[in-house]
Parts: sequence; structure tokens; C-alpha cells
Amino acid sequence: MSNNAERQQIPIREGMMNIPSSERENGRLLGSKCNDCHELFFIERQICENCNGQNLETVALSTKGKLYAFTVMYYPAPPPYQAPDPFEPYGVGWIELPEGLVLYSLLTENDPQKLKVGMDMELRIECLRQDDNGNDIMVSKYRPVEVG
Ligand SMILES: [Zn+2]
Repeated sequence: MSNNAERQQIPIREGMMNIPSSERENGRLLGSKCNDCHELFFIERQICENCNGQNLETVALSTKGKLYAFTVMYYPAPPPYQAPDPFEPYGVGWIELPEGLVLYSLLTENDPQKLKVGMDMELRIECLRQDDNGNDIMVSKYRPVEVG
């Protein structure tokens, strides 16, 4: 147990997500909302790209969305996204959230036969790999919602 206590879960990019404190909870991706023009951004911004305003607040984004487009990569991911097995294919996709934002994300699924544009997707926060200190590097992935 003492080992576990020292191990940390670290987001692959600071400020990108809330990491769930237990298996039952779902993490959330964090974006920015402009209070002047109401534009939404992912990842967080300091300045609004739409109106150049600086009146932005951090918002937790929807955990569910629809698969807008996808592809499967058959070559190693670029740092810092390198996986323990760099030659295992991985899915990436654009997820359209209910709030209108379309974001680019890793997918849990790497079989193109199991992915379909328009399908319901939900967010998972999971460990991609461990760093040199044994900390878990956490990434966000979307997975198809199980039906039936
Ligand atoms: Zn704005």
C-alpha cells in the first residue's frame, strides 16, 4: 500500500482534465468558455480566439458525444502519447459534444469495423503508460457506448 500512496496519476497535459478519484467516477475534460461571446474551447485558453477577450472561465465538458469522424493509426504515436507497445494500432476521432464543440481525441477502440460515424461515445480517463517514477500518465479516450 505504501507504494501506491506515493504513485500519482498525472494528466498528460496539465489542466486538461479532472481525474476521477475512484473507478466508479468519470473524469471530465476541461475547456474554457468566453463570458463575452460565449465561444467554447478545448483545451483551456487564456485569450478568446473568437473575440480576443480575456474574460474566460474553466468549464467541465460533457462526457458524452457523437463520433463525427475517425481513423486508425498504424504507426507509433508522437510524444508524449507514446504507448507501451508503439506498434499497436490506435484509434483517434473527432467527437461532437452536445454543447457544439468538436474535439480530437484518442479512442478506446482500434478496430475500424466497430466504429461508425454518428455513434454515441463516452469519455474514459485511463492510464496510457507509466513515467520513469512509476506515476500513471493519464489520457482521455472516447469509447463507444454499449447498447442493449
Ligand atoms: Zn470571446
